[in-house]
Amino acid sequence: MDASTYTRDFWHTKARSLKFRTQHFIDGTYAPSADGRTFKSINPATGEVLAEVARGGQAEIDRAVAVARRAFKSGSWSRMDPRERMAVLERFSALVQENAEEFALLDSLDMGKPVMDMINIDIPGSVTSLKFFSETIDKIEGAVTNTSASALHYILRQPLGVVGLIVPWNYPLMMAAWKLGPALATGNSVVLKPAEQSPLSANLLAELFIEAGGPAGVLNVVHGLGEEAGRALGLHNDIDKIGFTGSTEVGKLLMVYAGQSNMKRVSTECGGKTPQIVLGDYDDLDTAVTYAVNGIYGNQGEVCNAGSRILVDKSIHDDFVERFSARTKESFVLGDPLDPSTTIGPLVTSSHQQRVLSYIDIGRSEGAALKFGGGTLASSPAGAFIEPTLFTGVDNSMRIAREEIFGPVAAIIPVDGIDDAIEIANDTIYGLAASIWTRDIGKAHRFARDVEAGVVWVNCFDHGDMTSIWGGYKQTGNGRDKCLEALTQYSQTKSVWVHLG
Ligand code: NAD
Repeated sequence: MDASTYTRDFWHTKARSLKFRTQHFIDGTYAPSADGRTFKSINPATGEVLAEVARGGQAEIDRAVAVARRAFKSGSWSRMDPRERMAVLERFSALVQENAEEFALLDSLDMGKPVMDMINIDIPGSVTSLKFFSETIDKIEGAVTNTSASALHYILRQPLGVVGLIVPWNYPLMMAAWKLGPALATGNSVVLKPAEQSPLSANLLAELFIEAGGPAGVLNVVHGLGEEAGRALGLHNDIDKIGFTGSTEVGKLLMVYAGQSNMKRVSTECGGKTPQIVLGDYDDLDTAVTYAVNGIYGNQGEVCNAGSRILVDKSIHDDFVERFSARTKESFVLGDPLDPSTTIGPLVTSSHQQRVLSYIDIGRSEGAALKFGGGTLASSPAGAFIEPTLFTGVDNSMRIAREEIFGPVAAIIPVDGIDDAIEIANDTIYGLAASIWTRDIGKAHRFARDVEAGVVWVNCFDHGDMTSIWGGYKQTGNGRDKCLEALTQYSQTKSVWVHLG
């Protein structure tokens, strides 16, 4: 559709007629919780209740896992002819695109991101992920090894079985799609547990899988709280793997649950405290500044790789801060997420808003200078808004430089050249991503080699496509999403030795 169609009226009119799918989706049909319990999904822009969503627990997880296991054993998906499976996933991807507007509204209303970010970022990211993994299905190969003349030895690559996917609220659709692509492409059955702050789009996804020709029972959705439905999934003895994206704290819990139950595989994509480094030799400061503001304030700063620590060479520090302030002012409009001119919506919940505000207080009390922001949106007191905020004079030992705030709060840390920058960049428990701006090719490559992060950008930020790996070092976790490497996380190898006697 022509972008000019997407007016504020268009989205509000469409939102009024939106239907919410609020039950669990198990075995191809909807079901409430056995005990009838629900939780509220709240629109963070207004504070209004959008829907009462089924609150699953042990009983619903048990049922969904049993259904998924039965589907797996039946071979309806796990042994479907690869090219048929490709066709289903390709149609699935196309259907997500066809339903882009509904997905855009569901996630925007549920967690507050600007609806146009859904159209421009989350939908293409989700569609491409499903399409990319559909295309891999008939290219997944085993191997025949060059061994003894009296034997034939081959390696089979096989699905794991039943996979539990636990996803966060910051990109509800896209995080699910990043994991569903490789999990389904390799032939597994899935139980998906969306975040309780953003449950509304997952069921549409599961319905479209069936519409695309996917067998019932292969993709199931159980809603609920992390400590209830999520924990039950993590501890389940018939789950072969948990694919998790969320906080480091919960990622660690899932590893404990695996040890307490059946030693299931756990892949974790967790938090970050991404450094963006700008060295004094970089001659196009405006470009670096544009990427830096987008890198921290995009998606309200609720991004795992948000460039929250900006390490600026002392020689250009003051100039950088002035340009950063001016660019933020002209680029970000806080307000109604359904208004296409809005570039920052509310945070996901009012309790998260309070948490981010408390970090702004911590920054002040630690002695950092509040250069701008720090407030809420006066015209919308019921919304969970926070202005883009910048602290300068930050030391890397301060809590605002060490802890993941997950909001629109940037910290500028002055540095003295490349060695100082690398040392500070690595002084964190996290290791998702890092960027550097320099014209010195030696420094750029040294940084790429020495920085402890799974994703490195040189003279750009947040670039990538489905061929690039997504995952971190250190306490960001061990997971790798996107690209062919993701397939290895949802499959296992088997060695077959045939004696040719
Ligand atoms: P969270 O860890 O609170 O929740 C994530 C998911 O885990 C939710 O579905 C939640 O219900 C579930 N959960 C919570 N407690 C659980 C428990 N005890 N057992 C099982 N499941 C449980 O994270 P969040 O607040 O939803 O998301 C923000 C976090 O996600 C940030 O730390 C962010 O950096 C991270 N994240 C990482 C990536 C990445 O690719 N590395 C991407 C997006 C978000």
